[in-house]
Amino acid sequence: MIEMLNVYKKYPNGITAANGLTVRIEQGEFVYVVGPSGAGKSTFIKMMYREEKASKGSIKVGDFDLVTMKDRDVPFLRRHVGVVFQDFKLLPRLTVYENIAYAMEVVEKNPKIIKKRVLEVLDLVGLKHKVRMFPTELSGGEQQRIAIARAIANMPRVLIADEPTGNLDPDTSWEIMNILEEINNQGTTVVMATHNSQIVNVVKHRVLAVENGRIVRDQLEGDYGYEG
Ligand code: ADP
Ligand code: ADP
Repeated sequence: MIEMLNVYKKYPNGITAANGLTVRIEQGEFVYVVGPSGAGKSTFIKMMYREEKASKGSIKVGDFDLVTMKDRDVPFLRRHVGVVFQDFKLLPRLTVYENIAYAMEVVEKNPKIIKKRVLEVLDLVGLKHKVRMFPTELSGGEQQRIAIARAIANMPRVLIADEPTGNLDPDTSWEIMNILEEINNQGTTVVMATHNSQIVNVVKHRVLAVENGRIVRDQLEGDYGYEG
């Protein structure tokens, strides 16, 4: 599903954030990406949805070759790769319904299908009753659930989450984790960068540890492996 071969990333300021990444992630896997701050986790993840381009090496996601892909084709990739962020990134002037529908309108033109799917994903995250609310009227955990609903609205094969529980309290973080588990159980590949050692150590999945732009550990049912 996701394949990186000898991937390097050098930012314009001279920092090398990926220093020879090679990894293969199969369809349906749940993978944690751990490591110290500044290790290159975000860069690694951003290259999977072409938010950053590799300087060298090859990256394939499904049928997409992210190195030869034209910028104008990136929206096609994004239908297959949903993304969730630490700070939710909901559009503040749009309601919950509009935030999710907006993500679908780029892909799906039929308003009936959009409406059905928006309510379906809201049901999945348990927030159907908040459909008319604005993001500022929701708690952090609720905003993240909406962001997840938006990310899966187009039924992507891969869901990428960059520290999705980073701004949430422990209980709320567990709620978010349970939703990601459910999505993974339905067959979606999940790649999640996290500092949440509790979750990683309790809900066992493959762990990729990144340090200095390299994968220094690749462990099935791994531990978090750092203090904290
Ligand atoms: P992590 O997610 O593990 O904290 P990042 O991938 O964000 O690591 O960062 C890896 C390194 O790349 C750091 O030294 C960081 O300062 C640098 N970096 C990240 N993004 C950029 C950027 N857009 N421009 C320049 N340097 C960057
Ligand atoms: P939690 O502690 O469970 O993360 P909050 O205490 O922030 O959540 O919110 C509890 C409930 O109050 C939530 O259902 C949320 O939608 C609602 N709520 C929070 N802030 C506002 C607000 N500014 N306006 C309307 N409803 C709000």
